[in-house]
Parts: sequence; structure tokens; C-alpha cells
Amino acid sequence: MHAVPNRKYRIGRSSAGLGLFATKPFRKREYIVTYRGRLLPNAEADRLEARGSRYMFEINTHWTIDGSKRWNVARYVNHSCRPNAEAIERRGPSIVYVARRRIKPEEEITVDYGKDYFAAFITKSHCRCVKCKERRAEQQAMRRAKIKRAARKRLRLRREKRAAAKRKR
Ligand SMILES: [Zn+2]
Repeated sequence: MHAVPNRKYRIGRSSAGLGLFATKPFRKREYIVTYRGRLLPNAEADRLEARGSRYMFEINTHWTIDGSKRWNVARYVNHSCRPNAEAIERRGPSIVYVARRRIKPEEEITVDYGKDYFAAFITKSHCRCVKCKERRAEQQAMRRAKIKRAARKRLRLRREKRAAAKRKR
């Protein structure tokens, strides 16, 4: 989609709406992007969040970054329960995302949003990360296999019943 010049990532379509994708490889621990926005005292951030503001990133017990502006490309980084990047606090204070492992070109860059955010906004049955999709697919496959097994059992019982009835005649 929109290429960001001289950067190692692009914004593109992901399973969770827009996402940030690597265009070049990242080494483990390599800096990816800074979470940019104005600094707000936590109390003010709470008020704005209660009114529907998204992209608030609480840095510490005093400060939150309001990352809602479009030019904060880090806001496009989606949640994953198996993330390839993580948030690190830097002096400023500020937040940067760094690679947790090697990231290949075309991989979506993801971070773990944390337990509170997950419980409040995402939840296990709605998370669109790769890990959760695999888990749900596996559960679905197991449910289908169980239904098939039950159907085969019914069929076999019916056949046995018929065979028994034939023998009686
Ligand atoms: Zn997940």
C-alpha cells in the first residue's frame, strides 16, 4: 500500500485491519519504530480513553503517550499473542519497538498489547493473531473430527442392527 520512503516497513492490509509489515529483514534486538505522540499525565489519558480515545500507551506511573495521530506509524502495529517485536522504554520518556527475534521481509510486525488490553478489547475468542487463529482452527478440526466419529459410530450401529435382524430371519 503506501510505502514509507527510507524505512524498513510499510503499512498494509492485515487480518486485523491495517498493519505494519517489514520490507527488509530485522536482526534480533534491532530498533524498528518509535511510538510517537504528545505526552499526557496518566489522569488526563484516562479521561480521554474513557471518551473513546484509542492508541494511548502508558509508559510508567506518570506518563502516557497519545499515539492517535496518523503520523505515528507505530499505531499500526497490531497485537499478537506470539509477537515478533516488543516495546522498550527509553529516556524522554518514550517507547520504541524492537525486534524480539529475526524478522523477515513481508512479515507483519506485532507486539503483545498486554493482559489488561487483551482482556478489555481483544479476548481469546476474537484475537486475530496467527497463534489464536491456529488454536481456533485446531479446536474446530477437533470438533469436526468428533462429529464425524459420532456419525460413523451411528452408521456402524445401524449396520450391525440390520445384520442382526437379518440373522434372526
Ligand atoms: Zn492472539
